[in-house]
Amino acid sequence: PLDPSLEPGVREVRGACFSRVQTQPLLSPRFVAVSEPALALLGLSVQDVLSDPLAPEYLSGSKIMPGSEPAAHCYCGHQFGSFAGQLGDGAACYLGEVKAPADQSEDLLRENPSGRWEIQVKGAGPTPYSRQADGRKVLRSSIREFLCSEAVFALGIPTTRAGSLVTSDLHVLRDVFYDGRARRERCSVVLRIAPTFIRFGSFEIFKPADEFTGRQGPSVGRDDIRAQLLDYVIETFYPEIQQSHTDREARNAAFFREVTRRTARLVAQWQCVGFCHGVLNTDNMSILGLTLDYGPFGFMDRFDPDFVCNASDNMGRYSYQAQPAVCRWNLACLAEALGPELPEGQAQAILDEYLPLYNTFYLGNMRRKLGLLRKEEAEDELLVTELLQTMHNTGADFTNTFRSLSQVPCPKEGEVEADVLEAAVNLLLEQCASLEELKAANKPTMDQRELLMILSLAESNPAIFQLLAGKKMVTRQLEKLARLKELMDTNQEVLRSKQREDWTRWMKQYRRRLAQECTGLDDVHAVEEERVRVMDSTNPRVVLRNYIAQNAIDVAESGDFSEVQRVLKVLKKPFSTQLDLEKPGLVAQGGMMEQGERD
Ligand code: AMP
Ligand code: MG
Ligand code: MG
Repeated sequence: PLDPSLEPGVREVRGACFSRVQTQPLLSPRFVAVSEPALALLGLSVQDVLSDPLAPEYLSGSKIMPGSEPAAHCYCGHQFGSFAGQLGDGAACYLGEVKAPADQSEDLLRENPSGRWEIQVKGAGPTPYSRQADGRKVLRSSIREFLCSEAVFALGIPTTRAGSLVTSDLHVLRDVFYDGRARRERCSVVLRIAPTFIRFGSFEIFKPADEFTGRQGPSVGRDDIRAQLLDYVIETFYPEIQQSHTDREARNAAFFREVTRRTARLVAQWQCVGFCHGVLNTDNMSILGLTLDYGPFGFMDRFDPDFVCNASDNMGRYSYQAQPAVCRWNLACLAEALGPELPEGQAQAILDEYLPLYNTFYLGNMRRKLGLLRKEEAEDELLVTELLQTMHNTGADFTNTFRSLSQVPCPKEGEVEADVLEAAVNLLLEQCASLEELKAANKPTMDQRELLMILSLAESNPAIFQLLAGKKMVTRQLEKLARLKELMDTNQEVLRSKQREDWTRWMKQYRRRLAQECTGLDDVHAVEEERVRVMDSTNPRVVLRNYIAQNAIDVAESGDFSEVQRVLKVLKKPFSTQLDLEKPGLVAQGGMMEQGERD
Protein backbone atom coordinates (compact mmCIF):
# COMPACT_ATOMS: atom_id res chain seq x y z
CA PRO A 1 0.00 0.00 0.00
CA LEU A 2 1.10 3.56 -0.63
CA ASP A 3 1.44 5.41 2.63
CA PRO A 4 0.92 9.18 2.10
CA SER A 5 3.46 9.94 4.84
CA LEU A 6 6.22 8.32 2.80
CA GLU A 7 8.48 10.12 0.39
CA PRO A 8 7.07 10.17 -3.16
CA GLY A 9 7.86 7.02 -5.05
CA VAL A 10 8.46 4.96 -1.92
CA ARG A 11 6.47 1.81 -1.64
CA GLU A 12 6.27 -0.04 1.64
CA VAL A 13 5.86 -3.75 1.29
CA ARG A 14 4.42 -5.37 4.34
CA GLY A 15 4.82 -9.00 5.25
CA ALA A 16 7.30 -9.88 2.52
CA CYS A 17 11.05 -10.28 2.11
CA PHE A 18 11.25 -10.42 -1.68
CA SER A 19 9.34 -8.90 -4.57
CA ARG A 20 9.31 -10.31 -8.07
CA VAL A 21 10.79 -7.85 -10.53
CA GLN A 22 11.62 -7.54 -14.19
CA THR A 23 15.11 -6.55 -15.18
CA GLN A 24 15.40 -3.92 -17.91
CA PRO A 25 17.53 -4.66 -20.97
CA LEU A 26 20.62 -2.67 -21.88
CA LEU A 27 21.33 -1.41 -25.38
CA SER A 28 24.12 -3.38 -27.13
CA PRO A 29 25.56 -4.93 -23.97
CA ARG A 30 29.23 -5.95 -24.23
CA PHE A 31 31.87 -7.17 -21.83
CA VAL A 32 34.37 -4.80 -20.28
CA ALA A 33 36.02 -7.64 -18.37
CA VAL A 34 35.29 -11.05 -16.90
CA SER A 35 36.83 -12.76 -13.90
CA GLU A 36 37.94 -16.26 -14.67
CA PRO A 37 38.00 -17.64 -11.07
CA ALA A 38 34.64 -16.05 -10.21
CA LEU A 39 32.94 -17.46 -13.32
CA ALA A 40 34.42 -20.84 -12.49
CA LEU A 41 32.30 -20.87 -9.32
CA LEU A 42 29.31 -21.15 -11.67
CA GLY A 43 30.96 -23.76 -13.85
CA LEU A 44 31.53 -21.26 -16.65
CA SER A 45 34.77 -20.87 -18.53
CA VAL A 46 36.01 -17.57 -19.90
CA GLN A 47 36.23 -19.10 -23.37
CA ASP A 48 32.58 -20.18 -23.29
CA VAL A 49 31.46 -16.82 -22.07
CA LEU A 50 33.53 -14.69 -24.42
CA SER A 51 32.64 -16.76 -27.49
CA ASP A 52 28.89 -16.65 -26.87
CA PRO A 53 27.35 -13.53 -28.41
CA LEU A 54 24.39 -13.81 -26.01
CA ALA A 55 26.52 -14.02 -22.86
CA PRO A 56 26.63 -10.24 -22.24
CA GLU A 57 22.82 -10.23 -22.56
CA TYR A 58 22.33 -12.99 -20.02
CA LEU A 59 25.00 -11.89 -17.56
CA SER A 60 23.63 -8.34 -17.47
CA GLY A 61 19.98 -9.23 -16.98
CA SER A 62 19.14 -8.00 -20.48
CA LYS A 63 17.86 -11.48 -21.22
CA ILE A 64 16.60 -13.85 -18.57
CA MET A 65 18.01 -17.36 -18.35
CA PRO A 66 15.57 -20.26 -18.39
CA GLY A 67 14.48 -21.06 -14.85
CA SER A 68 15.48 -17.69 -13.46
CA GLU A 69 12.88 -15.73 -11.48
CA PRO A 70 14.31 -12.28 -10.83
CA ALA A 71 13.52 -10.73 -7.47
CA ALA A 72 14.50 -7.79 -5.29
CA HIS A 73 15.12 -8.32 -1.60
CA CYS A 74 13.39 -6.10 0.92
CA TYR A 75 15.59 -5.13 3.83
CA CYS A 76 15.99 -2.33 6.33
CA GLY A 77 18.99 -0.78 7.93
CA HIS A 78 20.63 1.67 10.24
CA GLN A 79 22.28 4.31 8.10
CA PHE A 80 24.90 6.53 9.75
CA GLY A 81 23.66 5.63 13.20
CA SER A 82 19.91 5.87 12.86
CA PHE A 83 17.25 3.47 11.75
CA ALA A 84 16.35 4.26 8.15
CA GLY A 85 13.29 2.04 7.78
CA GLN A 86 12.81 0.12 4.54
CA LEU A 87 15.64 0.18 2.01
CA GLY A 88 15.88 -2.98 -0.08
CA ASP A 89 17.62 -3.91 -3.32
CA GLY A 90 17.22 -0.69 -5.28
CA ALA A 91 19.76 -1.46 -7.97
CA ALA A 92 20.66 -5.09 -7.41
CA CYS A 93 18.47 -7.90 -8.60
CA TYR A 94 18.49 -11.56 -7.61
CA LEU A 95 18.50 -13.86 -10.65
CA GLY A 96 18.54 -17.16 -8.84
CA GLU A 97 21.05 -19.70 -7.62
CA VAL A 98 23.45 -21.85 -9.60
CA LYS A 99 24.40 -25.30 -8.40
CA ALA A 100 28.10 -25.46 -7.63
CA PRO A 101 29.93 -27.65 -10.16
CA ALA A 102 30.68 -31.15 -8.86
CA ASP A 103 34.41 -30.55 -8.85
CA GLN A 104 34.28 -27.50 -6.62
CA SER A 105 37.13 -27.61 -4.10
CA GLU A 106 36.65 -28.60 -0.48
CA ASP A 107 37.80 -25.19 0.67
CA LEU A 108 35.05 -23.59 -1.35
CA LEU A 109 32.47 -26.02 -0.03
CA ARG A 110 33.53 -25.25 3.51
CA GLU A 111 33.10 -21.56 2.76
CA ASN A 112 29.82 -22.14 1.03
CA PRO A 113 28.16 -25.25 2.41
CA SER A 114 24.91 -24.48 0.56
CA GLY A 115 26.44 -25.99 -2.57
CA ARG A 116 24.98 -23.21 -4.73
CA TRP A 117 25.88 -19.68 -5.67
CA GLU A 118 23.45 -16.80 -5.70
CA ILE A 119 23.82 -14.56 -8.73
CA GLN A 120 22.75 -10.95 -8.87
CA VAL A 121 22.91 -8.26 -11.49
CA LYS A 122 23.70 -4.81 -10.17
CA GLY A 123 22.37 -1.97 -12.27
CA ALA A 124 19.65 -3.81 -14.23
CA GLY A 125 16.94 -1.22 -13.64
CA PRO A 126 14.47 -0.12 -11.00
CA THR A 127 12.83 -2.30 -8.37
CA PRO A 128 10.09 -1.52 -5.84
CA TYR A 129 12.96 -0.43 -3.57
CA SER A 130 14.66 2.06 -5.87
CA ARG A 131 12.88 5.06 -4.32
CA GLN A 132 13.63 8.12 -6.49
CA ALA A 133 16.67 6.50 -8.11
CA ASP A 134 16.75 4.62 -11.40
CA GLY A 135 18.30 1.31 -10.39
CA ARG A 136 21.10 1.79 -12.88
CA LYS A 137 24.84 1.86 -12.33
CA VAL A 138 27.37 3.65 -14.48
CA LEU A 139 30.71 2.46 -15.76
CA ARG A 140 32.91 4.09 -13.11
CA SER A 141 31.09 2.66 -10.07
CA SER A 142 30.79 -0.74 -11.78
CA ILE A 143 34.52 -0.85 -12.53
CA ARG A 144 35.25 -0.06 -8.91
CA GLU A 145 32.93 -2.78 -7.59
CA PHE A 146 34.15 -5.34 -10.12
CA LEU A 147 37.86 -4.75 -9.54
CA CYS A 148 37.68 -4.42 -5.79
CA SER A 149 35.54 -7.55 -5.25
CA GLU A 150 38.14 -9.63 -7.02
CA ALA A 151 41.08 -7.78 -5.44
CA VAL A 152 39.75 -8.30 -1.91
CA PHE A 153 39.20 -11.98 -2.67
CA ALA A 154 42.77 -12.32 -3.90
CA LEU A 155 43.99 -10.74 -0.65
CA GLY A 156 42.39 -13.68 1.16
CA ILE A 157 39.59 -11.59 2.65
CA PRO A 158 36.01 -12.93 2.61
CA THR A 159 33.94 -11.05 0.04
CA THR A 160 31.13 -11.21 -2.46
CA ARG A 161 32.55 -11.84 -5.93
CA ALA A 162 32.20 -10.28 -9.35
CA GLY A 163 31.96 -12.54 -12.40
CA SER A 164 31.58 -10.06 -15.21
CA LEU A 165 31.27 -6.41 -16.05
CA VAL A 166 29.09 -5.37 -18.96
CA THR A 167 28.66 -1.89 -20.37
CA SER A 168 26.26 -0.63 -23.02
CA ASP A 169 25.00 2.16 -25.23
CA LEU A 170 22.19 2.97 -22.83
CA HIS A 171 22.89 6.22 -20.99
CA VAL A 172 21.72 7.85 -17.79
CA LEU A 173 22.36 11.30 -16.43
CA ARG A 174 24.47 11.57 -13.30
CA ASP A 175 25.47 14.62 -11.31
CA VAL A 176 29.18 14.72 -11.01
CA PHE A 177 29.75 16.50 -7.78
CA TYR A 178 33.05 18.18 -8.53
CA ASP A 179 31.73 20.32 -11.36
CA GLY A 180 28.06 20.26 -10.44
CA ARG A 181 27.05 19.40 -14.01
CA ALA A 182 25.09 16.36 -15.09
CA ARG A 183 26.99 13.91 -17.27
CA ARG A 184 25.68 11.28 -19.66
CA GLU A 185 27.16 8.00 -18.57
CA ARG A 186 26.95 4.45 -19.85
CA CYS A 187 24.71 2.03 -17.98
CA SER A 188 26.81 -0.89 -16.83
CA VAL A 189 26.06 -4.07 -14.94
CA VAL A 190 28.19 -6.19 -12.62
CA LEU A 191 27.30 -9.84 -12.12
CA ARG A 192 27.72 -10.42 -8.39
CA ILE A 193 28.18 -13.85 -6.88
CA ALA A 194 27.96 -14.98 -3.26
CA PRO A 195 26.51 -17.85 -1.25
CA THR A 196 23.88 -15.29 -0.27
CA PHE A 197 23.51 -11.53 -0.10
CA ILE A 198 21.40 -11.65 3.07
CA ARG A 199 22.58 -8.98 5.48
CA PHE A 200 22.06 -7.76 9.03
CA GLY A 201 19.42 -5.39 7.65
CA SER A 202 17.49 -8.37 6.28
CA PHE A 203 16.51 -9.08 9.89
CA GLU A 204 15.80 -5.48 10.73
CA ILE A 205 12.61 -5.48 8.69
CA PHE A 206 11.02 -7.15 11.70
CA LYS A 207 11.92 -4.33 14.05
CA PRO A 208 9.18 -2.40 15.79
CA ALA A 209 8.84 1.29 14.96
CA ASP A 210 11.91 3.31 15.80
CA GLU A 211 11.19 5.51 18.79
CA PHE A 212 13.34 8.31 17.41
CA THR A 213 12.35 8.48 13.75
CA GLY A 214 8.97 6.79 14.03
CA ARG A 215 10.02 4.64 11.07
CA GLN A 216 9.19 1.03 11.08
CA GLY A 217 10.01 -2.04 9.14
CA PRO A 218 7.43 -3.31 6.66
CA SER A 219 7.00 -6.64 8.41
CA VAL A 220 6.47 -5.42 11.93
CA GLY A 221 5.54 -8.11 14.33
CA ARG A 222 5.96 -10.85 11.77
CA ASP A 223 7.71 -13.29 14.09
CA ASP A 224 6.78 -16.08 11.69
CA ILE A 225 8.72 -14.62 8.74
CA ARG A 226 11.70 -13.77 10.93
CA ALA A 227 11.75 -17.37 12.18
CA GLN A 228 11.60 -18.67 8.60
CA LEU A 229 14.41 -16.41 7.46
CA LEU A 230 16.54 -17.33 10.46
CA ASP A 231 15.93 -21.05 9.94
CA TYR A 232 16.77 -20.71 6.27
CA VAL A 233 20.03 -18.87 6.95
CA ILE A 234 21.21 -21.26 9.66
CA GLU A 235 20.16 -24.47 7.90
CA THR A 236 21.61 -23.42 4.56
CA PHE A 237 24.76 -21.52 5.47
CA TYR A 238 25.56 -22.70 8.99
CA PRO A 239 24.61 -26.41 8.74
CA GLU A 240 27.06 -27.44 11.46
CA ILE A 241 25.34 -25.16 13.92
CA GLN A 242 21.95 -26.45 12.86
CA GLN A 243 23.04 -30.06 13.27
CA SER A 244 24.73 -29.68 16.62
CA HIS A 245 21.81 -28.07 18.43
CA THR A 246 18.39 -29.41 19.26
CA ASP A 247 17.50 -26.43 21.42
CA ARG A 248 16.43 -23.47 19.29
CA GLU A 249 17.63 -20.80 21.69
CA ALA A 250 21.06 -22.42 22.01
CA ARG A 251 21.23 -22.78 18.22
CA ASN A 252 20.45 -19.12 17.71
CA ALA A 253 23.07 -18.09 20.26
CA ALA A 254 25.66 -20.26 18.51
CA PHE A 255 24.70 -18.65 15.21
CA PHE A 256 25.03 -15.13 16.59
CA ARG A 257 28.37 -16.05 18.15
CA GLU A 258 29.64 -17.30 14.78
CA VAL A 259 28.45 -14.15 12.96
CA THR A 260 30.23 -12.14 15.65
CA ARG A 261 33.42 -14.16 15.19
CA ARG A 262 33.36 -13.81 11.40
CA THR A 263 32.68 -10.09 11.60
CA ALA A 264 35.56 -9.58 14.04
CA ARG A 265 37.85 -11.56 11.75
CA LEU A 266 36.72 -9.65 8.67
CA VAL A 267 37.28 -6.20 10.12
CA ALA A 268 40.68 -7.26 11.50
CA GLN A 269 41.64 -8.28 7.97
CA TRP A 270 40.45 -4.95 6.58
CA GLN A 271 42.52 -3.07 9.14
CA CYS A 272 45.60 -5.07 8.26
CA VAL A 273 45.50 -4.12 4.57
CA GLY A 274 44.37 -0.54 5.17
CA PHE A 275 40.94 -1.09 3.61
CA CYS A 276 38.16 1.31 4.44
CA HIS A 277 34.65 0.17 3.54
CA GLY A 278 33.14 3.63 3.59
CA VAL A 279 29.47 2.82 4.28
CA LEU A 280 29.25 0.41 7.19
CA ASN A 281 25.51 0.70 7.57
CA THR A 282 23.78 -2.44 8.86
CA ASP A 283 22.32 -3.08 5.41
CA ASN A 284 25.86 -3.46 4.07
CA MET A 285 26.88 -6.05 6.69
CA SER A 286 26.78 -9.58 5.33
CA ILE A 287 25.23 -12.27 7.50
CA LEU A 288 28.10 -14.50 6.34
CA GLY A 289 30.86 -12.07 7.32
CA LEU A 290 31.69 -11.14 3.71
CA THR A 291 32.81 -7.74 2.47
CA LEU A 292 29.60 -6.46 0.90
CA ASP A 293 28.73 -3.43 -1.24
CA TYR A 294 31.68 -1.71 -2.85
CA GLY A 295 30.69 1.93 -3.05
CA PRO A 296 33.03 4.67 -1.86
CA PHE A 297 35.60 2.22 -0.44
CA GLY A 298 39.27 3.13 -0.31
CA PHE A 299 42.65 1.59 0.38
CA MET A 300 44.79 3.95 2.39
CA ASP A 301 47.91 5.40 0.85
CA ARG A 302 49.68 7.30 3.66
CA PHE A 303 48.70 5.93 7.02
CA ASP A 304 46.12 8.09 8.76
CA PRO A 305 43.91 6.55 11.46
CA ASP A 306 41.25 9.14 10.61
CA PHE A 307 41.20 8.24 6.92
CA VAL A 308 37.65 8.67 5.56
CA CYS A 309 36.97 7.46 2.04
CA ASN A 310 33.33 8.51 1.80
CA ALA A 311 33.01 12.21 1.05
CA SER A 312 29.48 12.35 2.47
CA ASP A 313 30.71 10.97 5.81
CA ASN A 314 31.67 14.38 7.18
CA MET A 315 31.62 13.21 10.81
CA GLY A 316 34.08 10.43 10.08
CA ARG A 317 31.68 7.82 11.46
CA TYR A 318 33.17 5.21 9.14
CA SER A 319 36.80 6.30 9.32
CA TYR A 320 39.53 3.64 9.25
CA GLN A 321 40.00 3.52 12.99
CA ALA A 322 36.27 3.55 13.68
CA GLN A 323 35.60 0.37 11.70
CA PRO A 324 36.13 -2.21 14.48
CA ALA A 325 33.83 -0.39 16.92
CA VAL A 326 31.24 0.36 14.25
CA CYS A 327 31.03 -3.33 13.34
CA ARG A 328 30.37 -4.16 16.97
CA TRP A 329 27.65 -1.51 16.99
CA ASN A 330 26.16 -3.16 13.90
CA LEU A 331 26.24 -6.56 15.58
CA ALA A 332 24.27 -5.05 18.47
CA CYS A 333 21.65 -3.94 15.91
CA LEU A 334 21.50 -7.45 14.53
CA ALA A 335 21.04 -8.86 18.03
CA GLU A 336 18.22 -6.43 18.64
CA ALA A 337 16.62 -7.31 15.32
CA LEU A 338 16.65 -11.00 16.22
CA GLY A 339 14.26 -10.01 18.98
CA PRO A 340 12.73 -12.94 20.83
CA GLU A 341 14.96 -15.36 18.93
CA LEU A 342 17.95 -14.23 21.01
CA PRO A 343 17.50 -13.30 24.69
CA GLU A 344 19.12 -9.99 25.57
CA GLY A 345 21.45 -11.39 28.23
CA GLN A 346 22.81 -13.97 25.77
CA ALA A 347 23.32 -11.34 23.10
CA GLN A 348 25.15 -9.07 25.51
CA ALA A 349 27.47 -11.86 26.66
CA ILE A 350 28.36 -12.67 23.04
CA LEU A 351 28.85 -9.01 22.16
CA ASP A 352 31.29 -8.80 25.06
CA GLU A 353 33.42 -11.41 23.29
CA TYR A 354 33.75 -9.23 20.21
CA LEU A 355 36.58 -6.94 21.22
CA PRO A 356 38.91 -9.64 22.61
CA LEU A 357 38.18 -11.70 19.48
CA TYR A 358 38.93 -8.77 17.23
CA ASN A 359 42.18 -8.06 19.09
CA THR A 360 43.28 -11.67 18.76
CA PHE A 361 42.65 -11.72 15.00
CA TYR A 362 44.24 -8.32 14.54
CA LEU A 363 47.35 -9.04 16.56
CA GLY A 364 47.77 -12.49 15.02
CA ASN A 365 47.60 -10.95 11.57
CA MET A 366 49.92 -8.07 12.50
CA ARG A 367 52.49 -10.52 13.92
CA ARG A 368 52.60 -12.23 10.54
CA LYS A 369 52.94 -8.86 8.82
CA LEU A 370 55.95 -8.13 11.04
CA GLY A 371 57.34 -11.63 10.62
CA LEU A 372 57.05 -12.50 14.32
CA LEU A 373 56.20 -16.13 13.90
CA ARG A 374 57.87 -18.10 16.62
CA LYS A 375 57.09 -16.37 19.88
CA GLU A 376 54.35 -14.13 21.14
CA GLU A 377 55.61 -11.33 23.32
CA ALA A 378 53.53 -8.99 25.44
CA GLU A 379 55.31 -6.02 23.86
CA ASP A 380 54.20 -6.95 20.32
CA GLU A 381 51.05 -4.89 20.62
CA LEU A 382 53.08 -1.80 21.48
CA LEU A 383 55.47 -2.50 18.63
CA VAL A 384 52.51 -2.47 16.22
CA THR A 385 50.98 0.67 17.73
CA GLU A 386 54.29 2.49 17.54
CA LEU A 387 54.85 1.36 13.98
CA LEU A 388 51.51 2.88 12.99
CA GLN A 389 52.23 6.00 15.02
CA THR A 390 55.57 6.39 13.25
CA MET A 391 53.92 5.87 9.87
CA HIS A 392 51.41 8.56 10.75
CA ASN A 393 54.04 11.04 11.99
CA THR A 394 56.19 10.57 8.93
CA GLY A 395 53.36 10.26 6.40
CA ALA A 396 54.53 6.80 5.36
CA ASP A 397 52.72 4.71 2.79
CA PHE A 398 50.84 1.90 4.56
CA THR A 399 51.13 -0.84 1.94
CA ASN A 400 54.71 -0.13 0.90
CA THR A 401 55.99 0.23 4.45
CA PHE A 402 54.72 -3.20 5.46
CA ARG A 403 55.95 -4.71 2.22
CA SER A 404 59.46 -3.37 2.79
CA LEU A 405 59.75 -4.85 6.30
CA SER A 406 60.65 -8.29 4.98
CA GLN A 407 63.89 -6.73 3.75
CA VAL A 408 64.94 -6.01 7.33
CA PRO A 409 67.13 -9.01 8.16
CA CYS A 410 67.38 -11.06 11.35
CA PRO A 411 70.43 -10.07 13.41
CA LYS A 412 73.39 -12.28 12.50
CA GLU A 413 76.81 -12.83 14.01
CA GLY A 414 79.62 -10.75 12.58
CA GLU A 415 77.37 -7.94 11.35
CA VAL A 416 77.67 -4.35 12.54
CA GLU A 417 74.30 -3.46 14.02
CA ALA A 418 74.66 0.26 13.28
CA ASP A 419 75.11 -0.46 9.55
CA VAL A 420 72.14 -2.80 9.30
CA LEU A 421 70.03 -0.34 11.23
CA GLU A 422 70.93 2.54 8.95
CA ALA A 423 70.20 0.54 5.82
CA ALA A 424 66.83 -0.54 7.23
CA VAL A 425 65.89 3.01 8.18
CA ASN A 426 66.86 4.28 4.73
CA LEU A 427 64.54 1.73 3.22
CA LEU A 428 61.62 3.02 5.26
CA LEU A 429 62.48 6.66 4.68
CA GLU A 430 61.75 6.04 1.00
CA GLN A 431 58.08 5.56 1.93
CA CYS A 432 57.79 8.80 3.90
CA ALA A 433 56.15 12.02 2.81
CA SER A 434 58.04 15.14 1.81
CA LEU A 435 57.33 18.40 3.60
CA GLU A 436 54.94 19.55 0.89
CA GLU A 437 53.09 16.24 0.93
CA LEU A 438 52.77 16.31 4.71
CA LYS A 439 51.45 19.84 4.59
CA ALA A 440 48.83 18.78 2.07
CA ALA A 441 47.86 15.79 4.23
CA ASN A 442 47.33 18.03 7.24
CA LYS A 443 45.26 20.67 5.53
CA PRO A 444 42.04 21.03 7.50
CA THR A 445 38.82 21.58 5.58
CA MET A 446 37.78 24.52 7.77
CA ASP A 447 39.70 27.44 9.22
CA GLN A 448 40.49 27.70 12.90
CA ARG A 449 37.79 30.25 13.72
CA GLU A 450 35.07 28.07 12.24
CA LEU A 451 36.42 25.03 14.02
CA LEU A 452 36.53 26.71 17.43
CA MET A 453 33.00 27.98 16.96
CA ILE A 454 31.67 24.50 16.21
CA LEU A 455 33.61 23.14 19.16
CA SER A 456 32.05 25.57 21.61
CA LEU A 457 28.63 24.80 20.14
CA ALA A 458 29.23 21.10 20.67
CA GLU A 459 30.31 21.73 24.24
CA SER A 460 27.17 23.67 25.10
CA ASN A 461 24.95 20.91 23.68
CA PRO A 462 26.75 17.74 24.72
CA ALA A 463 23.57 15.68 24.68
CA ILE A 464 23.11 15.89 20.94
CA PHE A 465 24.74 12.96 19.24
CA GLN A 466 25.45 14.57 15.92
CA LEU A 467 27.27 17.41 17.59
CA LEU A 468 29.28 15.05 19.73
CA ALA A 469 30.39 13.22 16.64
CA GLY A 470 31.03 16.65 15.18
CA LYS A 471 33.17 17.49 18.17
CA LYS A 472 35.38 14.49 17.49
CA MET A 473 35.69 15.61 13.90
CA VAL A 474 36.51 19.16 14.92
CA THR A 475 39.09 18.00 17.45
CA ARG A 476 40.78 16.00 14.73
CA GLN A 477 40.78 18.98 12.44
CA LEU A 478 42.30 21.16 15.16
CA GLU A 479 45.04 18.57 15.65
CA LYS A 480 45.76 18.74 11.95
CA LEU A 481 45.89 22.49 12.13
CA ALA A 482 48.42 22.35 14.98
CA ARG A 483 50.46 19.88 12.97
CA LEU A 484 50.32 22.15 9.95
CA LYS A 485 51.61 25.08 12.04
CA GLU A 486 54.57 22.97 13.16
CA LEU A 487 55.28 22.05 9.56
CA MET A 488 55.19 25.69 8.50
CA ASP A 489 58.07 26.39 10.86
CA THR A 490 60.29 23.65 9.54
CA ASN A 491 62.15 22.81 6.35
CA GLN A 492 62.77 19.69 4.32
CA GLU A 493 66.15 18.87 5.94
CA VAL A 494 64.88 19.29 9.49
CA LEU A 495 61.85 17.17 8.64
CA ARG A 496 63.98 14.41 7.13
CA SER A 497 66.22 14.22 10.17
CA LYS A 498 63.14 14.11 12.41
CA GLN A 499 61.74 11.29 10.28
CA ARG A 500 65.09 9.50 10.48
CA GLU A 501 65.02 9.85 14.27
CA ASP A 502 61.47 8.48 14.46
CA TRP A 503 62.23 5.48 12.27
CA THR A 504 65.54 4.76 14.00
CA ARG A 505 63.76 4.62 17.37
CA TRP A 506 61.18 2.17 16.05
CA MET A 507 63.70 0.13 14.08
CA LYS A 508 65.84 -0.42 17.18
CA GLN A 509 62.83 -1.90 18.94
CA TYR A 510 62.01 -4.05 15.93
CA ARG A 511 65.59 -5.32 15.65
CA ARG A 512 65.60 -6.24 19.35
CA ARG A 513 62.39 -8.14 18.81
CA LEU A 514 63.80 -9.90 15.74
CA ALA A 515 66.83 -10.90 17.82
CA GLN A 516 64.46 -12.64 20.25
CA GLU A 517 62.83 -14.33 17.30
CA CYS A 518 66.10 -15.71 15.94
CA THR A 519 68.27 -16.39 18.99
CA GLY A 520 69.34 -19.87 19.94
CA LEU A 521 68.61 -21.26 16.49
CA ASP A 522 70.99 -23.41 14.53
CA ASP A 523 69.78 -22.30 11.18
CA VAL A 524 69.01 -18.60 11.20
CA HIS A 525 68.88 -18.61 7.40
CA ALA A 526 66.09 -21.16 7.25
CA VAL A 527 64.12 -19.15 9.80
CA GLU A 528 64.72 -16.02 7.82
CA GLU A 529 63.59 -17.63 4.60
CA GLU A 530 60.35 -18.74 6.21
CA ARG A 531 59.91 -15.31 7.73
CA VAL A 532 60.29 -13.57 4.37
CA ARG A 533 57.94 -16.05 2.74
CA VAL A 534 55.19 -15.46 5.32
CA MET A 535 55.65 -11.69 5.29
CA ASP A 536 55.59 -11.45 1.52
CA SER A 537 52.40 -13.50 1.39
CA THR A 538 50.76 -11.34 4.09
CA ASN A 539 51.86 -7.86 3.03
CA PRO A 540 50.53 -7.20 -0.47
CA ARG A 541 52.72 -5.48 -3.02
CA VAL A 542 49.69 -4.00 -4.76
CA VAL A 543 46.25 -2.95 -3.63
CA LEU A 544 43.53 -1.21 -5.61
CA ARG A 545 44.65 2.33 -4.94
CA ASN A 546 42.23 5.03 -5.94
CA TYR A 547 44.40 6.42 -8.69
CA ILE A 548 44.82 2.97 -10.23
CA ALA A 549 41.04 2.50 -10.34
CA GLN A 550 40.54 6.05 -11.60
CA ASN A 551 43.07 5.59 -14.37
CA ALA A 552 41.39 2.36 -15.51
CA ILE A 553 38.06 4.21 -15.43
CA ASP A 554 39.31 7.14 -17.48
CA VAL A 555 40.69 4.83 -20.16
CA ALA A 556 37.54 2.68 -20.14
CA GLU A 557 35.31 5.72 -20.53
CA SER A 558 37.16 6.45 -23.76
CA GLY A 559 36.24 2.96 -24.96
CA ASP A 560 39.45 1.06 -24.18
CA PHE A 561 38.93 -1.71 -21.63
CA SER A 562 42.47 -3.08 -21.68
CA GLU A 563 43.52 -1.21 -18.55
CA VAL A 564 40.63 -2.68 -16.52
CA GLN A 565 41.70 -6.12 -17.69
CA ARG A 566 45.36 -5.48 -16.93
CA VAL A 567 44.63 -4.16 -13.43
CA LEU A 568 42.40 -7.17 -12.76
CA LYS A 569 45.23 -9.47 -13.78
CA VAL A 570 47.70 -7.76 -11.47
CA LEU A 571 45.30 -7.62 -8.53
CA LYS A 572 44.67 -11.33 -8.85
CA LYS A 573 48.24 -11.84 -7.61
CA PRO A 574 48.70 -9.08 -5.05
CA PHE A 575 51.65 -10.73 -3.35
CA SER A 576 53.64 -11.54 -6.45
CA THR A 577 56.79 -9.64 -7.31
CA GLN A 578 55.99 -9.39 -11.02
CA LEU A 579 56.53 -5.87 -12.18
CA ASP A 580 53.76 -5.36 -14.70
CA LEU A 581 52.10 -2.66 -12.65
CA GLU A 582 54.19 0.45 -12.21
CA LYS A 583 55.38 1.01 -8.65
CA PRO A 584 52.31 2.19 -6.84
CA GLY A 585 52.53 5.94 -6.45
CA LEU A 586 51.74 7.58 -3.18
CA VAL A 587 49.29 10.27 -4.13
CA ALA A 588 45.63 9.44 -4.07
CA GLN A 589 43.89 11.05 -6.98
CA GLY A 590 40.21 11.46 -7.68
CA GLY A 591 39.40 10.63 -4.08
CA MET A 592 35.90 12.00 -4.39
CA MET A 593 34.98 10.28 -7.62
CA GLU A 594 32.16 8.16 -6.24
CA GLN A 595 30.11 11.14 -5.21
CA GLY A 596 28.22 11.60 -8.43
CA GLU A 597 26.27 8.46 -7.77
CA ARG A 598 24.55 7.02 -4.77
CA ASP A 599 25.99 3.57 -4.55
P1 AMP B 1 24.12 1.76 -0.27
O1 AMP B 1 24.53 3.05 0.36
O2 AMP B 1 24.87 1.41 -1.51
O3 AMP B 1 24.13 0.63 0.70
O4 AMP B 1 22.62 1.95 -0.77
C1 AMP B 1 21.58 2.36 0.07
C2 AMP B 1 20.24 2.12 -0.59
O5 AMP B 1 20.15 2.82 -1.83
C3 AMP B 1 19.98 0.66 -0.94
O6 AMP B 1 18.62 0.41 -0.70
C4 AMP B 1 20.31 0.59 -2.41
O7 AMP B 1 19.64 -0.46 -3.05
C5 AMP B 1 19.80 1.94 -2.89
N1 AMP B 1 20.47 2.34 -4.14
C6 AMP B 1 21.78 2.59 -4.33
N2 AMP B 1 22.04 2.95 -5.59
C7 AMP B 1 20.87 2.91 -6.26
C8 AMP B 1 20.46 3.17 -7.61
N3 AMP B 1 21.34 3.54 -8.55
N4 AMP B 1 19.17 3.03 -7.92
C9 AMP B 1 18.28 2.66 -6.98
N5 AMP B 1 18.57 2.43 -5.70
C10 AMP B 1 19.86 2.54 -5.33
MG1 MG C 1 24.07 -1.32 0.09
MG1 MG D 1 26.04 0.40 -2.68
